Amino acid sequence: MLVYNSQTHKKEELRPIEEGKIRMYVCGPTVYDQIHIGNARTFLSFDVIRRYLTYKGYQVTFAQNLTDVDDKIINRANEEGRTAAEVAEEFSDAFIEQMHRFGILDPDIRPRATREIETMQDMISRLIERGYAYPAANGDVYFSVRADKSYGVLSGRDLDQLRAGERVEVVDEKRDPFDFALWKAAKPGEPSWPSPWGDGRPGWHTECCAMIHRHLGTPIDIHGGGQDLIFPHHENETAQAMCAWDAPLAHTWMHTGMLRVNGEKMSKSLGNFFTLKEILDKYPADAVRLLMLQTHYRSALDFQTDQLEGAVGTLERLSTCVENLRWAAKVAPQDGELTECDRAFGAAIEAARDEFVAQMDDDFNTSGGLAAIFSLVTSANKYLSEAAGTIATAPTLRAADMIVELANVLGIDLAAGSADELPAGLVDLAREQAGFAGDDVQQAADALIEARQKARAEKDWARADAIRDGICALGLVLEDTAAGARLRMGD
Ligand code: AMP
Ligand code: ZN
Repeated sequence: MLVYNSQTHKKEELRPIEEGKIRMYVCGPTVYDQIHIGNARTFLSFDVIRRYLTYKGYQVTFAQNLTDVDDKIINRANEEGRTAAEVAEEFSDAFIEQMHRFGILDPDIRPRATREIETMQDMISRLIERGYAYPAANGDVYFSVRADKSYGVLSGRDLDQLRAGERVEVVDEKRDPFDFALWKAAKPGEPSWPSPWGDGRPGWHTECCAMIHRHLGTPIDIHGGGQDLIFPHHENETAQAMCAWDAPLAHTWMHTGMLRVNGEKMSKSLGNFFTLKEILDKYPADAVRLLMLQTHYRSALDFQTDQLEGAVGTLERLSTCVENLRWAAKVAPQDGELTECDRAFGAAIEAARDEFVAQMDDDFNTSGGLAAIFSLVTSANKYLSEAAGTIATAPTLRAADMIVELANVLGIDLAAGSADELPAGLVDLAREQAGFAGDDVQQAADALIEARQKARAEKDWARADAIRDGICALGLVLEDTAAGARLRMGD
């Protein structure tokens, strides 16, 4: 399978360092507020990448950090008269909660910066010993970009050009303006830890590199984040790895395109800034997923809020198709010899899966993968109407399972969506109207449908209407499909 490597600007064949295994890391959030939908886009992309690699049979180990000490956290804590640790804990919990709501699988390892101080100090000491970092008089420790001959290897930036073209903060203690802080000396009122260079806290670029080395081992197969992280964050991460352990940090660097909202960069002042929580409070997580996955992860994503309703409808089209297939196989099981029409449908199912895999093998083309699922839905709907009455059980159930399986690779859970609980009141209704004697809700539903059909066949309209009204009163709708009547929860 081909994966685009931001470092080489090419799609490359994925070759795991250890056969059958993938070790991957994605920079996590700085926990000072609810994450926004741009962050969510990046985390979603890597959730799908991870799920697909697992689907392909790789044993994936996935790590993602929480940056729980940082200027933004400290500023918020000071504004609110709280400790930085309290703010970080609140928004770490909030982040994990929203990730769960969005259907994002937990990482195997979730290191937190404040719990890895020693890991980082060990790396900093090593960099100092090897001549790539230096403690400054004020208690900061800086990485020396000039000492690293490979600096710029990831982003392709040349230090001399950078110096001419970009403005950086000039700090007296730095030997070069592009030197970055590995360790920051403590300021009054800030969280700090003792160190050989005095009390202080780690710099942002330090944590990912040290934690990757400790938890996954370097180099890893895949390192990911948003495109905005390529420089300086990821450049600085890989520079530290090269200088500390003589190895690049990752084989493949993957970066997601930035999300914009309704054609504009998201910003609070433009009123187009949305947290993931706000969106998930209004729309089903899988509809948001579906909408985002219609754009390739490397492209900029123009998130059109007015397309969310449409995505809800598209999602329903998927789950309704699965329900209709399962229903058809249940009410009219046909296990005889397959007709030409059945076989053509069977072939369409396998072709859709092959197409899905081909699209996803091409640098995780989720929009192509979704198109393959929708083509299967179209074939299934056509089969259900053309073969009505003589529907073959095997391909029908296989199509339902295949749609669920492929959607699940994208993290869209159709099985959960269709597992509507039928209300227990159906049992009483069936006892009253259909002479039902059991207590299973599904059997009661079947008995009611049958009793209504019998009443209609006997032109006993009063009874047929009484059954329908009783069903509606329980909040259900009675739907007449090509394969017979069926009950589902009303909207
Ligand atoms: P941060 O907490 O700012 O470090 O962001 C967490 C992750 O979200 C990083 O991987 C960023 O690259 C990513 N990110 C930030 N803004 C956006 C955006 N507008 N679109 C996509 N990803 C973003
Ligand atoms: Zn990072």
